Amino acid sequence: MASSSLFSSLRSRSKSLLSSLKLNLKTSHSCSQNPIRNSIDSKPVSNGFYYHRHQANRSSFLFSWPSSLLPLALAVSAGSLSLCDSSEIDSSRVLSFGGKGSTDYVVKGSHKEVPQEFMDELKAICQDRLTMDYDERYFHGKPQNSFHKAVNIPDVVVFPRSEEEVSKIVKSCNKHKVPIIPYGGATSIEGHTLSPNGGVCIDMSLMKKVKALHVEDMDVVVEPGIGWIELNEYLERYGPGATIGGMCATRCSGSLAVRYGTMRDNVINLKVVLADGDVVKTASRARKSAAGYDLTRLLIGSEGTLGVITEVTLRLQKIPQYSVVAICNFPSVKDAADVAIATMLSGIQVSRVELLDEVQIRAINIANGKNLPETPTLMFEFIGTEAYSREQTLIVQKIVSEHNGSDFVFAEEPEAKKELWRIRKEALWACFAMQPNSEAMSTDVCVPLSHLAELISRSKQELDASPLVCTVIAHAGDGNFHTIILFDPTKEEQRQEAERLNHFMVHTALAMEGTCTGEHGVGTGKIKYLEKELGVEALKTMKRIKAALDPNDIMNPGKLIPPHICF
Ligand SMILES: Cc1cc2nc3c(=O)[nH]c(=O)nc-3n(C[C@H](O)[C@H](O)[C@H](O)COP(=O)(O)OP(=O)(O)OC[C@H]3O[C@@H](n4cnc5c(N)ncnc54)[C@H](O)[C@@H]3O)c2cc1C
Repeated sequence: MASSSLFSSLRSRSKSLLSSLKLNLKTSHSCSQNPIRNSIDSKPVSNGFYYHRHQANRSSFLFSWPSSLLPLALAVSAGSLSLCDSSEIDSSRVLSFGGKGSTDYVVKGSHKEVPQEFMDELKAICQDRLTMDYDERYFHGKPQNSFHKAVNIPDVVVFPRSEEEVSKIVKSCNKHKVPIIPYGGATSIEGHTLSPNGGVCIDMSLMKKVKALHVEDMDVVVEPGIGWIELNEYLERYGPGATIGGMCATRCSGSLAVRYGTMRDNVINLKVVLADGDVVKTASRARKSAAGYDLTRLLIGSEGTLGVITEVTLRLQKIPQYSVVAICNFPSVKDAADVAIATMLSGIQVSRVELLDEVQIRAINIANGKNLPETPTLMFEFIGTEAYSREQTLIVQKIVSEHNGSDFVFAEEPEAKKELWRIRKEALWACFAMQPNSEAMSTDVCVPLSHLAELISRSKQELDASPLVCTVIAHAGDGNFHTIILFDPTKEEQRQEAERLNHFMVHTALAMEGTCTGEHGVGTGKIKYLEKELGVEALKTMKRIKAALDPNDIMNPGKLIPPHICF
């Protein structure tokens, strides 16, 4: 058995970001110079915005991509994973996110005792990188950021160091029919890492090497346990949170997806240990290929149900030469959504277009002592050459003015741009300033772009009529939006109301040919919507794939495919 110090250090590294995040309720200070502008040739204007003073101790990696190479897969997430810098965290408050106190999300499962022969095999493979310590098993069996709980926790947690070890562990699990739960940063929201049937939790946090950087080919080969912030730091020279493996497994994305696509678009190939222990490389390193079934995309978004990802080759892209960040206000969310759609239809390749409703802006004002106009707000980022970025800015400024928009201001200086994006980046945490003792349900619907304005308007009517405080944050250029629904976890009727609002939005999105999850994934939480969204034939096809690759159903059982379809 490993020493407790090894596991406490592993645990602190793999600890979910939210469990350690505390609300940043610092009072902001007005900048002595306000470098925000409202026309290309104007001098910086004073417009009533207030900003945080630049913190000398703030780590530089968050949301800045100063290196010449940007890992696209990371760019995908960068905007909305929105990790706070712990150096700025007020240690007196711990956030709670996800209704962990509620009892309605207990995932059932059956548990068989693991045979001694199996434990002996596992110990021989992992040696001291295995633990049966209750606290470690409990920690790994209970997601920090999700409502969902399971009736069981893993029987054992292992920390492999190599693909070969993963393969041996999986082979042994398959032989003894013991469930496997791959485990990355544990930031997923829908109960993905629960162990309802016990089994082996494979924590990938020791596999975090950068194996190769091919600057000339613009790709990088990494082990799955590396965090996206760590990889960003690595690339900067030539933190905790979601890992590359988990991000592949959930097919995640974020605010930059409108320009760069999701994980689906940014992974060139994977190495994966399948349920029988075989190691498969899904594709070559070529940027495109027509060679057979697309196994890479089959594994992206498979949530650990088909195999354990042990290596990822990611695309890289040059950091754009220049960028402009703009912000503007609207009388209604529909007007704001209409502008996002019109911008996309104009052919302008924005790198971000994010919508925040008036409740979200109020939260930001309360949390950070800002004085932003409390109206629906759009934020844009334009990239390219200096001339091109400015040209795009002017075109969008015109679109905004044609759709009842006002107060269009933009920033070009790096510090001013960073300050503007901080508004968006800290949006989630700001919500808790409005109701400090509440918990949050985060929704994730996504619809074809032309339906976004209607979906947001209908959702807003429902949200505004609710007694709960609800904010809207949208990746508007992709038709994807989140609502943060705050509720008191001790009041069952509030939790039910949050759930009702979520159902309403999911069913409205499905009626518009949309999806229940644009980026968070299915886990256990969204399983109930899949049949309506995809149809029974699609689910049966998934079941056939699952049965072919994992006949003993050991890979993350109970997740993604509804049980009545699966086995
Ligand atoms: C505050 C907050 C903000 C978020 N914002 C976003 C966002 O903007 N966009 C977005 O898409 N998501 C977002 N998420 C959700 C979450 O961060 C993503 O789902 C993330 O991709 C999960 O990565 P992880 O390493 O934490 O995976 P985990 O939570 O550890 O695991 C997620 C799933 O992947 C599987 N898995 C993990 N590692 C492997 C592996 N090596 N091989 C096979 N399967 C594996 C697990 O079994 C599980 O099913 C957010 C979450 C939080 C808490």
